[in-house]
Amino acid sequence: MRYFSSPLQKKIVEKIQCSSQLLFLLDYDGTLSPIVSKPQESRLKRSTQTVLKALTKNSRFTLGIITGRSVQQIKRLTGLKKVIIAGNHGLQLWSPKLKERYNRAAGFKYRIKEMKRVLHGLEEKFTGSYLEDKKISLAYHYRLTNPSLYSKIKTEFFERIDPWVKGQKIRVLEIKKGWEVLPPILWDKGKAVKWILTRCPKTTLSFFIGDDVTDEAAFKALASKGVSIRVGRKKSSAAQYFLKNVPEVEKFLFTLADSGKKQFQRGSNHGT
Ligand SMILES: [Mg+2]
Repeated sequence: MRYFSSPLQKKIVEKIQCSSQLLFLLDYDGTLSPIVSKPQESRLKRSTQTVLKALTKNSRFTLGIITGRSVQQIKRLTGLKKVIIAGNHGLQLWSPKLKERYNRAAGFKYRIKEMKRVLHGLEEKFTGSYLEDKKISLAYHYRLTNPSLYSKIKTEFFERIDPWVKGQKIRVLEIKKGWEVLPPILWDKGKAVKWILTRCPKTTLSFFIGDDVTDEAAFKALASKGVSIRVGRKKSSAAQYFLKNVPEVEKFLFTLADSGKKQFQRGSNHGT
């Protein structure tokens, strides 16, 4: 894993200027916006909003957000219109740009309701923990609890949901300081990336930037087909490069938006 330094970014920008169609896929929390203690309190910085909007205005660029959040939350947080949104780890897809949408988990709302009842009371028992209801999935966050309780929380969480996991009635994903409870559908951010790639066949260069364990599937899906960047260095990651933090991602997005304005005339149809 190499640091995505300024000289490296310059090389990529040269590629961008010679590429006719680019696909930028981005995670939200920890990538576009810092991780907040309570997910509902997240706000996207005005400058990040501006750069994302600039990217969507370039006809050579396609922008996509692939996130654990719901499509509705991302629509509200970004205010973007010409964007692909893969929500709930790709289980939901919304895109006026592709003129397509799906909700692979729509038939499992009853199961998620059931799991909400199973996990009821955990928030009160472990002060500071929070159960987020995303309708087709749940996220249980323990970031704000006392670290001395972490192992107790883990034990109780898994004790409660164990029968459903064993019966393959739900799927559990580990996230930063929490777990997601999802329908038992084998679908993840990697599959969402592949799905989007096949629907953008003219893409000559693609990017994915993410920060969490769940983004590893997307890094792998992109593999040799594009540029994968992790926010924060991690030796075991499948990403090719890393950026240090959210402000560095924003800076890179501004570089991308800027580079899009200066396409090389002669190289414009020669791909990468
Ligand atoms: Mg993230």
